Amino acid sequence: MWELEKHGKEGILVKGSNYLNLLTDAQNMVLDKTGTITKGNFEVSKIILSTEIEEKELLEVAAIAESMSNHPIAKSIEKRASIQIDTDLIKDYNEIAGYGIKVKYNEDEIIVGNSKLLENEGIKYYSCNEIGTVIYVAKNKKYLGAIVIEDIIKEDSKIAIQQFKNNGIKDIYMLTGDNSLIAENVAKKVGIEKIYSNLLPEQKVEKMQEIKGKKEIVIAIGDGVNDSPVLALSDIGVSIGNTGSDLAIETSDIVIMDGKLSSFNKLIEIAKRTKKIVKQNIYFAIGIKVIVLILGAVGISTMWEAVFADVGVTVLTVLNCLRIFKNKKL
Ligand code: ADP
Ligand code: MG
Repeated sequence: MWELEKHGKEGILVKGSNYLNLLTDAQNMVLDKTGTITKGNFEVSKIILSTEIEEKELLEVAAIAESMSNHPIAKSIEKRASIQIDTDLIKDYNEIAGYGIKVKYNEDEIIVGNSKLLENEGIKYYSCNEIGTVIYVAKNKKYLGAIVIEDIIKEDSKIAIQQFKNNGIKDIYMLTGDNSLIAENVAKKVGIEKIYSNLLPEQKVEKMQEIKGKKEIVIAIGDGVNDSPVLALSDIGVSIGNTGSDLAIETSDIVIMDGKLSSFNKLIEIAKRTKKIVKQNIYFAIGIKVIVLILGAVGISTMWEAVFADVGVTVLTVLNCLRIFKNKKL
C-alpha cells in the first residue's frame, strides 16, 4: 500500500522512478475538467421552477437523490438544500456515471441529472440555456425544474497550462462529461484548444485510446470521478486533489496531494533537471576514464591520475547529484 502521509516536501507522490524518466519525454496531456482544471466546488447560481413548487421543495427533492453520491455536483446541492435526509428510505439507488441519479424514495421515483438522462427516461423538460452546469429534476416522470450550478476555475490552472506548453507538452486535450458551452468557456479561459465535451466515461476512454494511437507518451490528469479508466490507460496517470477517490489514487502513477496543477509542473522540472544531471555524470565519468585509459596505455598518466579517474570521478558525480536537492527555484 502507498503511504500517502509520507509524500515528499512538494506534496507529490511518485510511485516509481521510471515515471520521472517518462515525464521528460511526454508530449501529450489529457485533462479532466471538473475537479482538475476547476475546483469542483459548485455553487448553486440559479433555480428554475417549472411547476407550482417552491425553490426549497425542488432543492429537497434533488438533495434526496444526491444524498448518497460523492460527485462534486451532489455535494453542492446537498449544501444548498441543507436538510437532514433519512437515507434508510432510499431504495433502488442508481448513480449513472456521466448522466446523474435515479432513485426511489418513499415510493416516489426521483431523477436528477443532465438532459441526456431525462431524454433516456422519456421525460419532457424545458431545455435551459443558462451558462453553467444544468441539473434537471423530475419526480414520478414529471419535470419539476432545473438547478444551475457554477464551478470556479482554480487560480493556478491558466499559468500551469502555459507552463506545460513551455515544458514541452505539445498537445493538451480537455475531456469532460459536461456540456459544450461550459467546456468551451473553461477551455478558452485557461488556454486549451482541443476540447471534447458531453463525453460519457466510456467515451472518455475511447478518446484516450485515439490519442494514444499517436504512439507518443500521454499524461492523463484527473480527480478520479468518472475518469479512473482514463488514468489507468495513460502512460502516466496522475490523480489530483482532495476530491480524488481511493480508486483514482490506486489506479494512478503519480498523486498530486495539494490539488494544484502547477505542482505537477514542478515535478516535470525536477524530472528534466534530474535527467540532465544524470546525463552529465555519465558523459563526464566515461570521458575522464577513457582519457586516462588512453594516457595510461601510452605511458603518460600516472598511478595517481588513474586513482583520480576512479574515486575522484565518483566523488564529483555524487556532488553533482546533490545539486538536485539544492535548486531553490523548485
Ligand atoms: P467531468 O468530466 O467534467 O469531470 P463527469 O463525467 O463527472 O464530469 O459528469 C458529467 C455530467 O454528468 C455532469 O456535468 C452532470 O451533468 C452529470 N452528472 C454526473 N454525476 C451527477 C450527479 N451525481 N448528479 C447530477 N448530475 C450528474
Ligand atoms: Mg471529473
